[in-house]
Amino acid sequence: MRPEILFPLFAPITSISGIGPRFAVLFERLVGVHILDLCWHLPNGLIDRRYSPQVAQAEAGRIATLVVRVLRHHPAPARGRPYRITVADESGELQLVFFHARADYLEKILPEGETRVVSGKLEVFGGGLQMPHPDHIAPEAELAEIQTVQPVYPLTAGLPQKVVAKAVTSALAHTIDLPEWLDPAFQRQGGWPAWKDALDSAHCPHELPDLDATTPARSRLAYDELLANQLALALIRRNQTRHKGRQIKGDSRLRTQVLEALPFSLTKSQQQVLLEIDDDMASDSRMLRLIQGDVGSGKTVVALLAMLAAVESGAQAAIMAPTEILARQHHKTIEPLARAAGVSVELLTGRDKGKARAAVLARIASGESAIVIGTHALFQQDVAFQDLALAVIDEQHRFGVHQRLTLADKGRGVDMLVMTATPIPRTLMLTAYGDMDVSRITEKPAGRQAIDTRTMPIDRLPEIVDAIGRALRSGTRAYWVCPLVEDSELSDLAAAEERHRELQAHFGDCVGLVHGKMKAKDKDAAMAAFVAGDITLLVATTVIEVGVDVPEASIMVIEHAERFGLAQLHQLRGRIGRGSLKSSCLLLYQGPLGEVSRARLNIMRETDDGFRIAEEDLRLRGAGELLGTRQSGFPEFRLADLQVHSDLLAAARDDAALILNKDPDLESDRGRALRILLYLFERDAAVKYLRSG
Ligand code: ADP
Ligand code: MG
Repeated sequence: MRPEILFPLFAPITSISGIGPRFAVLFERLVGVHILDLCWHLPNGLIDRRYSPQVAQAEAGRIATLVVRVLRHHPAPARGRPYRITVADESGELQLVFFHARADYLEKILPEGETRVVSGKLEVFGGGLQMPHPDHIAPEAELAEIQTVQPVYPLTAGLPQKVVAKAVTSALAHTIDLPEWLDPAFQRQGGWPAWKDALDSAHCPHELPDLDATTPARSRLAYDELLANQLALALIRRNQTRHKGRQIKGDSRLRTQVLEALPFSLTKSQQQVLLEIDDDMASDSRMLRLIQGDVGSGKTVVALLAMLAAVESGAQAAIMAPTEILARQHHKTIEPLARAAGVSVELLTGRDKGKARAAVLARIASGESAIVIGTHALFQQDVAFQDLALAVIDEQHRFGVHQRLTLADKGRGVDMLVMTATPIPRTLMLTAYGDMDVSRITEKPAGRQAIDTRTMPIDRLPEIVDAIGRALRSGTRAYWVCPLVEDSELSDLAAAEERHRELQAHFGDCVGLVHGKMKAKDKDAAMAAFVAGDITLLVATTVIEVGVDVPEASIMVIEHAERFGLAQLHQLRGRIGRGSLKSSCLLLYQGPLGEVSRARLNIMRETDDGFRIAEEDLRLRGAGELLGTRQSGFPEFRLADLQVHSDLLAAARDDAALILNKDPDLESDRGRALRILLYLFERDAAVKYLRSG
């Protein structure tokens, strides 16, 4: 239960006067739904109105607040020309300029002969100084009120700066002092203010450096966020390890059979990683290990062999994939191999309903199914295992921390193996897991063909279509990928459908379409037709990104490649070059390209090394975007910036460990304050792991 002291902060934004339903929608988009979200909406600029020179000394290009006498009005001489007002002080003159102004209004606020304060940006025009549309026009008595520094906030379309600034000010008035959760010595060392003071000061910049992420106020707020994150992870982790792990040791009886059935032998890298996994599973602490391996490096086989160890020891194993297509793909790869060793494999996806689903659940519950492959459907409450010992999570960055943990809760001391093709920077790993062991598959299986990658402007579409036509006639299969951009799923879908229609008009019925909004049945049918070769050109959205394996496909066209993350492009490109055919990938872009976009696409041309690609992407775009923020499963920070605050992250991790060591159930004064911190950052779920939570 949220502590009462925080109630005002979690009041809805609409409780601020002036925010009605219309603005509320926009505020929700911009910041969130709570008063607290407004408090955390920090300024990214400022307007300094303290510059008040004599007119003769005033510099163009600056914002100035001037005390002037109104000399003469010059109404607009013609339509489309501005209304001008000459004003002056004893040093010189300038013009106030108004387009589309109403004369009666201007006469009222700027009467000839009177003195006024005007504040706005100065420009030079026709050799003279002018101030177009002053931001402020007021009687001289209000000079001091205007001569201030105002914060400037990030906006969203439809919300004016004034409205946002006013809302933030009202929100800040709702804040109260909270008990201090920082270690006093640590706080003193950084010269950090108390929580409320830090907020107030972050919203009240005086000079540009006050907007820096490393000011004491902003550092403190960032640290609070990171500490809440690390403390919550430490609590979850502690709860997980509270139940001891179990010692899983296979006797290799099933493994040997599967290895014999494989048409290849494991790479050295695969063997090494498998050894590391075996060690972890054999120990009595719970495994939490990440396998990083580039697309096509053979993670699935490693996962299967790990799962067989669990099965050999008499328990069950599960592997979870982020999409239906990928789960089916895993099933297709794993099932025949497992069958060769007499191991029964079950597939459970969201598509299973009614009686069929009940039967699947019964086989999982009785232990008849030794290996279970599935999607998010595996999380569901009614899925119970007879004895789950190992959970494998594929493409883990697509799942949130809670989803991962729910799966682990379905067994006793479950070992966790997570697999990803994206090298995740250590800082991000820390925010998502706390500490975790990492294995890397660095080698690719022998005999892989390099993919010829080219970039081309979309203007050359007709040429490209001709080339695809030639390739199709010679028996090649090709993907044509259209992007799916967040927030506009529908229009992008329309783009894919449109492209499908056009290509079909050109090439006829050999052109298919697959996208995420299709009925599962139709999706399968389209994929199956592509696998069988009835469809040879498959127009797709990014649903084919992970997993899909059609070795005959050797061409991939990606439209609007500039909109994709590099890691994603690399994943997509990994769908070709899987067979013996020479493969090519065509990255189509909409010009003109900015410098960063050009550099990014060049990297794709230069290298096929997923680790290098991800590292370059990280360098060019920053951690937040690398994994695609929204559904990444990595926490999004609002106050902390991992590029700047990584040292604070490390400190927060150590701090969290120390706290839980000294005060395991957060019962000291500082502990009680830390509970409030957890609620403040909505880590409520972690609080329930405390004894008197
Ligand atoms: P990913 O790491 O992208 O999940 P997969 O596990 O899907 O890669 O493997 C890609 C392909 O490589 C599969 O067809 C798999 O059978 C094959 N493969 C895996 N390991 C080897 C190996 N050691 N030698 C040859 N082919 C392999
Ligand atoms: Mg895979």
